[in-house]
Amino acid sequence: MVYDMIILGAGSAGLTAAIYAGRAGLDVLVVENMIPGGEITSTEQMDNYPGFPEGIGGMEFGQLLERHARRFGAELLSSTIEGVELREEPKSVRTSSGMYFGRSVIVATGTSPSLLDVPGENELSGRGISFCATCDGPFFKHKRVAVIGGGDSAVEEALYLTRFAEKVFLIHRRDKLRAVQVLQDKIIKHPQVEILWDSVVSEFIGEDRLEKIIVKNVKDGSISEIPVDGTFLYVGRIPKAGFIEGVEKDSQGYIITNEEMETGIPGVYAAGDIRRKFLRQVITAAADGAIAASVALKYLEE
Ligand code: NAP
Repeated sequence: MVYDMIILGAGSAGLTAAIYAGRAGLDVLVVENMIPGGEITSTEQMDNYPGFPEGIGGMEFGQLLERHARRFGAELLSSTIEGVELREEPKSVRTSSGMYFGRSVIVATGTSPSLLDVPGENELSGRGISFCATCDGPFFKHKRVAVIGGGDSAVEEALYLTRFAEKVFLIHRRDKLRAVQVLQDKIIKHPQVEILWDSVVSEFIGEDRLEKIIVKNVKDGSISEIPVDGTFLYVGRIPKAGFIEGVEKDSQGYIITNEEMETGIPGVYAAGDIRRKFLRQVITAAADGAIAASVALKYLEE
């Protein structure tokens, strides 16, 4: 079978594209190797999506997106993408469960968490080092945790962790947070949070589980050893576009498209966080997905 559209990634961008394409009557396959819903499912509460004045849980929102896409006939395949051939007709996607063919492809694979690349990080990932406070926060009731980073994610998740942990260290490499002011105001006055400014983690130490972190002050060079039960890394993201060749990317590896989400290869589009763009949010990912599907529909009709 040749699908009208294969969508790589079932996050907000991919599933919105599936809703638009399915509703327009296209045969759509969405390939995803994690749970449908994407990055937002690891957020406890989404407060800035229009139409939800009280906010909505990230997991619940992801499940609604999946249901919505299925309602319009999208087929979801739980599989890992191993490679793509985008210039041939039909285009092909090699996955861990076989080859799939499509007349158009939307790349909506998003990003994965950046690492610090310091000793102990690989060994202790999943054993005290986590990338998802919503998933792992409840394991740290009455414990001490550290959050690394100074952006919206780090600050939001550090605040969330105060519900469980008795003490949260926020470790940031500069003397000013990158997060929006409203989050800065909350974290700076939070009694359970201690912010370590101008500081980086240089090593994670532990036998079977994380026991302590080595923190270096980058201004005065001083080193301290901080016992913690867990550390949450929020030091940015990297685009999951390594397997896509022949499309233009920026220096960080994000795919460059025009406003129509076109990549330069006919019938191939990119949508959501994988694109070079100003604002990476659910609302902009959904908008990208809607545009990509509508432009792809026009391409298929022509
Ligand atoms: P981000 O904004 O890129 O922030 C990454 C943070 O990690 C920065 O503070 C950065 O420090 C720090 N960092 C980067 N590399 C580091 C290293 N090697 N060692 C130590 N620190 C390092 O990433 P994000 O917080 O994940 O946010 C990504 C996007 O999602 C942003 O556009 C953000 O606005 C958005 N977002 C929005 C919301 C919301 O609207 N509620 C929630 C979460 C995320 P510097 O500041 O020094 O660069």
